[in-house]
Amino acid sequence: MIHTERTVLVSGAGVAGPALAFWLNRYGFAVTVVEKAGTLRSGGYPIDVRGTALEVVRRMGILPRLREAHIDLRRLTFLDGDGGEVASLHPHKVTGGVAGRDLEVRRGDLTDALYAAVRDDVEFLFNDSIDTLDQPGDGVDVTFRGGGRRTFDMVVGADGLHSRTREFVFGPEEQFHRYLGHCFAVFTMRNTFGLSHETVMWNSPGRAAALYAVGDNDDVHAFLDFAHPEPPSDAFRNPEAQRELVAAVFADAGWEVPGMLAALRDADDLFFDAVSQIRMPRWSSGRVALVGDAAYAPSFLTGQGTSLALVGAYMLAGSLAGREHAAGFAAYEHSTREFVTVNQDQAGEGGATLFPATARALEQRNDMLRNLSAMPSGEGRPAHSALTLPAVGGVGGRQCFSSPRWS
Ligand SMILES: Cc1cc2nc3c(=O)[nH]c(=O)nc-3n(C[C@H](O)[C@H](O)[C@H](O)COP(=O)(O)OP(=O)(O)OC[C@H]3O[C@@H](n4cnc5c(N)ncnc54)[C@H](O)[C@@H]3O)c2cc1C
Repeated sequence: MIHTERTVLVSGAGVAGPALAFWLNRYGFAVTVVEKAGTLRSGGYPIDVRGTALEVVRRMGILPRLREAHIDLRRLTFLDGDGGEVASLHPHKVTGGVAGRDLEVRRGDLTDALYAAVRDDVEFLFNDSIDTLDQPGDGVDVTFRGGGRRTFDMVVGADGLHSRTREFVFGPEEQFHRYLGHCFAVFTMRNTFGLSHETVMWNSPGRAAALYAVGDNDDVHAFLDFAHPEPPSDAFRNPEAQRELVAAVFADAGWEVPGMLAALRDADDLFFDAVSQIRMPRWSSGRVALVGDAAYAPSFLTGQGTSLALVGAYMLAGSLAGREHAAGFAAYEHSTREFVTVNQDQAGEGGATLFPATARALEQRNDMLRNLSAMPSGEGRPAHSALTLPAVGGVGGRQCFSSPRWS
C-alpha cells in the first residue's frame, strides 16, 4: 500500500521542474522545488513547443496563455558569405513546425506560465540548491547550501544540461556529454537593423551568424556559432576567454558580424556553450531520477529541448502515480526513451541545415533551401508527435496511466 503524501524534491525551476511539480501535485505528492537563481528569469531566447508537448500544456490549462505569447516569426533569410540573399522562406519549412498549431514563445513566457500554474500548490525555495545528497535506504537525505537539512522520498534533477544532481548520483558529465562539434554564443544587442519578427542568418563554411528579432522592439538576439574540433574547455568558465575565442574565429567575417563582435564585447548577458547532447544509459539510480536536459538534452539543433522537458515531466509524474519509486522510474524510461531518442537523432539534420562545415556542404545546403522555398509547408516532423500521451488517471490520480502509444 502506497501512502499518498510521498515527498519529492525537484532541483531546478526551468521548464521540466515546474511541469513535473504540477503533475506530481496532481497525483497527490508533496513537492518542493529548489532553484539556485533568486527568481525566475523572464525574457530570454525563443523556444518551441511542438507535437506531443502541445498536449501536455493543453492538459495543464496554459495553452491559451501560450498562444497569446506566440512569437509568430514570419521570415527566415539565409545569406552567403558576402551578405547576398540565398533564400528567404517561412521558418517552419526549415524547423518542421506547423503553422497555427506549434508554438514559439520566449523562454521566460513559458517558465512564467508554468510557475503560475503551480506556485500556490508547491513549495518553492529560490536562491538555494542541494549541497549533499545521500540515499541511506528508505529516503534521500539532503542538505541545502542555505543550511537546511531534510529527508525526501525521492529527488528529481531538473537542473539542466550541466546538472549537479546528475553529477552527485552518476558522476562526471563527460561520460554522458556528446559534443556535436561546435560552440555558440548568444547575447542581446540593439536592433539597428529594422528587423521585425524575423531571423537573418549569414553562413560561411563552419561559421554562422544570426540576428533574431522576436518582435518589433529595440533588441535582437545575436547568435554566433562555429565549428571547433574539441570542446574549448578553458573557455567554459571564463567569459573573457569566450569573447576572445569568438572574436578570433569571426575576425575576417563580413556582413554585420563586425558590429556583432563589437556588441559582444559590451554584452552583459553573454551565454556561451558547446553544442552538445546528454545521452545516458539510465535516467535513475535508487530514489533519484533525472528529467529534461539533465537526462537527455537534445541540443538546440533539434529545437526539441523544451518539448522533451515537458513530455518527460508528464511521463515521469504519471509513471510514479500509484507505483513505488523503482517501478515508477522503470515505467518512465520504458515509455519515454524511444520518443527521446528519435528526437535527439534529429540533431544531424538541424546541424546540416544551419551550420554546414565545408564549402561543398554549404553549396548543397543552399540548393536545398532554394528548392524548399518553392515548396508548400509540410505537416511537421513525425518525431515531434511520435508519442501519444496516456490519459490522466482520475482526479487526485491514484491510478497509473494507460500505456502510451507510438505513432
Ligand atoms: C541558446 C539556446 C537556444 C535554445 N533554443 C531552443 C529552441 O529553439 N527550441 C527548444 O525547444 N529548445 C531550445 N533550447 C533548449 C531549451 O532551453 C532547453 O532544452 C529547455 O529549457 C530544457 O529545460 P530544463 O528544465 O530541462 O532545463 P533548463 O531550462 O536549463 O532549467 C534548469 C533550471 O535549473 C536551475 N539549476 C541549475 N543548476 C541548479 C542547481 N545546482 N540547483 C538548483 N537549480 C539549478 C537553472 O537555474 C534553471 O532554472 C535552447 C537552449 C539554448 C541555451
